[in-house]
Amino acid sequence: MTNHEETLPVLVVGAGIGGLVAALALHHVGLPVAVFEQVSELSEVGAGLTMYPNATRALEYLGLGDALAAVAVIPEDGGVRHWQTGELLRHFPVGSQARTRYGAPQYFVHRADLQELLVGTLRARVPGALHLDHAFLSYEEQGNQVVAHFANGATVAGRALIGCDGIHSRVRECLFGPDAPRFTGKVAWRGLVPMERLSEQQRTPTSCLWTGPDHAFLRYPVRGGRLMNYVAHAAQGAWAEESWKLPSEVSEVLAEFAGWDPAVLAVIAATPPELCFKWALFDRDPLPRWSVGRVTLLGDAAHPALPYLGQGAGMAIEDGMVLARCLALEPAVPAALQRYEAARQPRCQWVQRESRANGDRFFEADPTARYQDGRAQSSADLEQALRYYDATSVPV
Ligand SMILES: Cc1cc2nc3c(=O)[nH]c(=O)nc-3n(C[C@H](O)[C@H](O)[C@H](O)COP(=O)(O)OP(=O)(O)OC[C@H]3O[C@@H](n4cnc5c(N)ncnc54)[C@H](O)[C@@H]3O)c2cc1C
Repeated sequence: MTNHEETLPVLVVGAGIGGLVAALALHHVGLPVAVFEQVSELSEVGAGLTMYPNATRALEYLGLGDALAAVAVIPEDGGVRHWQTGELLRHFPVGSQARTRYGAPQYFVHRADLQELLVGTLRARVPGALHLDHAFLSYEEQGNQVVAHFANGATVAGRALIGCDGIHSRVRECLFGPDAPRFTGKVAWRGLVPMERLSEQQRTPTSCLWTGPDHAFLRYPVRGGRLMNYVAHAAQGAWAEESWKLPSEVSEVLAEFAGWDPAVLAVIAATPPELCFKWALFDRDPLPRWSVGRVTLLGDAAHPALPYLGQGAGMAIEDGMVLARCLALEPAVPAALQRYEAARQPRCQWVQRESRANGDRFFEADPTARYQDGRAQSSADLEQALRYYDATSVPV
């Protein structure tokens, strides 16, 4: 690496969960970093994210453990209920067991709370590193640097460029052309309900999945337990825009879940109208490669997955940790990015495939039979394989 190259930052495009964790991990290993985010203001968008030990382990390693615990919820217990009768088919403790078993906690967190925590930490540790109002447009490689161009006219040189710009990634498009997402025929409504609107019984167990024919309803608390987050899944032929922010009607969700356990309907009915959103689920095949020269992809830009395993944020966090370790170990940037891709791609492709498969398990025409015949055990094995992963020490 030349002296000039050594002074250039790693350019991170996108200040979502993946980009911010990557930036903190790069700083942690001693590399200069600059983050470019398209929005001019980071606002309160999104709802609940599940943080399993594979994700929280990396965040604790970066020194974020206490701050994360302060905004997150540790679920006491979890369960699966019958869609119609509400019968508790499976019940499992969580609490401190995750730390005992996996060495790191399991949390529920509001995406905006996590993003705010990461932004505040980045601003404190690397003042001036975050550049808002910088929508990435294109790049070119010039010798031993990469030059990025932004919609506001800015041009910035770096030693590497990391596309953390989410599911509709412009960096991915520059590398490999437009993608072709397929509508899955499934939609989900997301809602946030003030906790005081729900009875004790409607909050028990802490997290709960109701599974039924062509529908599933998952709810868990976020924001220190002050809000109940839910995702109401349904098979629905109609196409809708792929967006996190499409407003929807509470009455539409209630009609879709007519005949379900009254505890489900009570949560839906308690949704403030402005906190109900519709989300159409699109599927993409795994990319054969992520990196070209000094440019690579991370998080949803590299491996967007359906939400049925709750590992979208987890995979992005793991990516950021492994990427920083590769760039710290290997001075030649293109070789470091190949090392990152080789270390991460098999796991992320597996999660993409398993998320797709888990969608079929989510909807259960006869949930009682499923939870009696041991098929549920196979998903418990999968959960273990996901949660033991340690991005801070896995061979790279
Ligand atoms: C607004 C929003 C709300 C979400 N809500 C939820 C939710 O409720 N539940 C859930 O499970 N997951 C949600 N997600 C997705 C979840 O955050 C991701 O699956 C996961 O955290 C992986 O994160 P990521 O960093 O790869 O991508 P994201 O978190 O999607 O972040 C991508 C970032 O890149 C920025 N960006 C995009 N294009 C450009 C560009 N050209 N130039 C510069 N910056 C760019 C975006 O503004 C965004 O900040 C949401 C994502 C977004 C963007």
